Amino acid sequence: MSHRPRKRLGQNFLRDPAVAQRMVAAIGPEPGQALLEIGPGEGALTAPLLERVGALTAVELDRELALALRERFGPALTVVEGDALGLDPADFTPAGQRLRVVGNLPYNVSTPILFHLLAAADHLADLHLLLQREVVDRMAASPGSKLRGRLSVMVQYRCRVERCFNVAAGSFYPAPKVMSSFVRLVPHRPLPESARDEALLQQVVASAFGARRKTLRNSLKGLVPAAAIEAAGVDPGCRAEDLAVADFVRLADTALEA
Ligand code: SAM
Repeated sequence: MSHRPRKRLGQNFLRDPAVAQRMVAAIGPEPGQALLEIGPGEGALTAPLLERVGALTAVELDRELALALRERFGPALTVVEGDALGLDPADFTPAGQRLRVVGNLPYNVSTPILFHLLAAADHLADLHLLLQREVVDRMAASPGSKLRGRLSVMVQYRCRVERCFNVAAGSFYPAPKVMSSFVRLVPHRPLPESARDEALLQQVVASAFGARRKTLRNSLKGLVPAAAIEAAGVDPGCRAEDLAVADFVRLADTALEA
């Protein structure tokens, strides 16, 4: 496939078959499972996946690549030409099954795509994603880490996060400026701690990290009064990065009553 990479679409194609095989081994796909690949590009991951599962669905925004993929893989691959942000994972989930999502995501929109997919976590068995290493570092960051942020808390609220391995920039063409990491996300079932109002949880997390150098007493002003922070069992003198997911859930639940 001779395709000129489009920067606008975050196209960095995997050119190392050994990395693709390692990804497939980490995914461990089985025939009969429902798989959805996001951004198959030139098919570097699609081809070894198809060898294992026989059939899968892929969503590709680039029309030229979508055509080439259809030609190359024929009926084994259902190519949906479109934006991953516009699809509903439920539409690709057969009755009685959960969907396995895989992909080397376009880095310019990886976080919106991730949150879009996680909103449908009930339909997902797991997600295996190749992302900028720095994004995976933030996703996996524990309380107390400087890297902990909104991404860590909201992803960990929904999923277990497991880094599988890192991938060097030279494995792609064109080579991105950054290292990549392959990560496995497994939605919690049930959620270990479930917020009564998830929109409010998101608001609390966003406000707390929006002013991450401030104490919670200040960053949550107007949203959770200091007395309510204490009632939630959290020290108002702490900063957002110190809190566990369960602390944020209690803060959001307490804010509902405050
Ligand atoms: N999976 C291929 C590989 O590993 O070589 C390509 C990975 S490349 C980083 C990202 C792919 O996602 C490109 O093929 C790009 O055209 C596609 N893409 C970009 N934005 C997209 C979107 N919003 N929805 C679906 N696909 C998208």
